[in-house]
Amino acid sequence: MTEVPEPICYRCGYPWSGHAENLGPYNKWCLRRWAAGVVVLFTDSVTGDPFFLFGKEKRLDGGYNAFWGFGELHEKDPHQTAAREACEEALGMLGNQQEILASIEGQESADAEVFLFLLSIGAQQVAALVDRYHERRQLWISAAESLKLLTQPGLRPGGDIMDALFAVPAQEFLAACWQLQDRRGKGGAAVSLHSMNGGVFMPKVEAKGSKKGASASGGLRPRPPAVCLAKLLARPQTDTAVKLQRFCSKGLVLPPHVPKAACVPGITRDGLPDGSMLAVQAIFSATWTGPRGTGLACTAESLADACATFLRRLEPPDVKLYFAAWIERAMDSPQQAKLAASHIARLVQRVPVVPLLQEQVTQTIGDACQRVDAALSARGDVSGADHGKIDHESLTSCYQLLSGASFVNELVKVGGINASMQPAIVEKARQHVESTASRHRLAWPAWLPPGAMQQEFGRISARKLENNSGPARA
Ligand SMILES: [Zn+2]
Repeated sequence: MTEVPEPICYRCGYPWSGHAENLGPYNKWCLRRWAAGVVVLFTDSVTGDPFFLFGKEKRLDGGYNAFWGFGELHEKDPHQTAAREACEEALGMLGNQQEILASIEGQESADAEVFLFLLSIGAQQVAALVDRYHERRQLWISAAESLKLLTQPGLRPGGDIMDALFAVPAQEFLAACWQLQDRRGKGGAAVSLHSMNGGVFMPKVEAKGSKKGASASGGLRPRPPAVCLAKLLARPQTDTAVKLQRFCSKGLVLPPHVPKAACVPGITRDGLPDGSMLAVQAIFSATWTGPRGTGLACTAESLADACATFLRRLEPPDVKLYFAAWIERAMDSPQQAKLAASHIARLVQRVPVVPLLQEQVTQTIGDACQRVDAALSARGDVSGADHGKIDHESLTSCYQLLSGASFVNELVKVGGINASMQPAIVEKARQHVESTASRHRLAWPAWLPPGAMQQEFGRISARKLENNSGPARA
């Protein structure tokens, strides 16, 4: 009989046991503090009618969505996450991340629990939007195709992107949300969408179908953020939601963000995978343990051999992007730090990239030190006095710096690569994490798995965090 391996969390790299139970399928909420996205609005350039722009993506939990995804630990604010997701998921046609962020910065979320911001892109033609995405998608897919060698069997190289973008008349969508509210979701009813002509989909309130992501009559079902959108439109609880409802019913235009189409994220001018797309694929293949955590990830060494071929062809800024992504991942947990270091140690034997690597490590660790410094001085509390609740920014920044410190130590150990740290700040970070752990063990955040704290952080007592599943998560 084959022994079933112990399930390993693909996010932090530690065993599943000990994780909170409410982290979703394959622990996808591990080391993720929030998810956020944007709802994209426009008016038809001929008729002036208000529209939503959605993406089609068939998943187990639905078939259409806003532009939305998980926040990373280095992101300090859900607006940053929303801007990055909007840039990536629309393949750059809504503008680059900085421009989108400038348009939504400071905006109140339309929902109190799910972070959804509004991005109005002014007057547009539906067909042009749909075609523009389609063209970008073709470019992206052909670039990703070349990463097949790095991809685990049965998975799509480069990961999932939206199948298509399409538009929905906002007035009809709002009417469907009201109708849904009257039915109070009976029989699993939701606002499903049905394809009409020229990239326009029409809403219909109906029950769940048997196929994944589909409604009873074959329409697209909403994914969770789109379910939330229907609720907040029917009964707005925030000023932003009230504005959105007014946009739907009266076509009142919000201040538009005029998108300057950016490059397709992830590909070079020659249509090849850039440093970030290469890194996303390599990191996924090095960590993905399957839906039950019992699968085998590719080894960091074999991936390094395959990636070396790509890196030799990339320009220095792209090589830096590659390392930047790995270093960010290394700062997710000491286990990921180990993995990243062994990958990089093998890589530098094959490609002459040590100066670029050291530059990137110095910069990222320097930024992390600054973030810790800023977070701790904002608290005015280096000694660890208790303010009654966890300050997530200082906990996150300190935790990330400690993971970064184990990454640097590993790099020196396995790769002989020099990188300097500021020991005083690392020590402050350690003290802060330890004192937070001892003071808040009953309210320990679910996103920070005890496994990542017990094994490598030495002085934190394992018992402090045991048998604690963290706060409930919606
Ligand atoms: Zn985990």
